[in-house]
Amino acid sequence: MGTLSHASRAVINSIVADLSQTIWLSDVDDTLVDTAHIHTTASYAMMPTLIKSLHPDLARSVIERFVAYFDLLIAGHQVRASHDWDALPQGMFQQYHELYARVAASQESVQQQWGTVKVFSREVLLHLACEDLGTQLEPVELDSCIQQYWDAMARQAVFCSGTLRLVAVLAALGRPFYLFTGSDGRLTLHPNGRFTYDPDRSLRFKSNRLDMLRLRGLTFRRAFIGDPVDKPSHEFYDNIVEGIFADVGADIRAQPTVVLGDSFAADLRIPMSTWNRCRGLLLWRGTGSASLEYEGIASVRSWMPVANSIEAALRPRIS
Ligand SMILES: [Mg+2]
Repeated sequence: MGTLSHASRAVINSIVADLSQTIWLSDVDDTLVDTAHIHTTASYAMMPTLIKSLHPDLARSVIERFVAYFDLLIAGHQVRASHDWDALPQGMFQQYHELYARVAASQESVQQQWGTVKVFSREVLLHLACEDLGTQLEPVELDSCIQQYWDAMARQAVFCSGTLRLVAVLAALGRPFYLFTGSDGRLTLHPNGRFTYDPDRSLRFKSNRLDMLRLRGLTFRRAFIGDPVDKPSHEFYDNIVEGIFADVGADIRAQPTVVLGDSFAADLRIPMSTWNRCRGLLLWRGTGSASLEYEGIASVRSWMPVANSIEAALRPRIS
């Protein structure tokens, strides 16, 4: 298993040991699909629309800032423990919290109505990028830019290393595989500068995005999407417990469950602390050590070692 730490190897071995009872759940963005990797190129798909109202130099600066903001949010989202900030450029901790506060403040009405902040809403990030550069887009232009961005994201979608292999191995074994994914936060800007949130629209959008991934080989039983209730609320995870019980009659609070994610705080913290037989697999592609000192969680840089371990365990039984 190459560079895996001893602790991570032990977790994977324990998953393999009771494989025949396991139920699998996975986050999608930056866990199965390499969203951060394609984000930058997809952002330039907004250029044709932006230059209708902005000078090309300004349009390029807006895009650069939009990309930087998303990268900053992802970096903060993937921090596993406070010491991970030390491996990031100095000042990033403060920049992240300042940006998060602005993202939250710009959707005050969404928070009031829905009790949630759609952190990764691209509409909000583009609006803030424009604001920083002393310009703003009409709501219809902003909406059109973000639509082009998401269209490009869908066209260019690439899976993280080993995703399809792991999914195929689990499918061959008949293990239930579910997705649980945060909202894409498809918010609508209004002429008064406020954003509103239509959960049905946002849910439909994400659901279509997952259907496109299914067409490309990502098989799953069902997806739990964070519209309107989102990660990392307890209610979101309660809905998953109920949904899986309704689907296969299994109580994942008691049955061996494997959760895949890229964010400890958003994907793993609640399942690991509230489901009795849960183990976690954290995809870590940041700088610094991949090891994570948290009992029951393996930190991996690809899904290949997990798929390989499962196949290696099965081989003696097949031959
Ligand atoms: Mg993710």
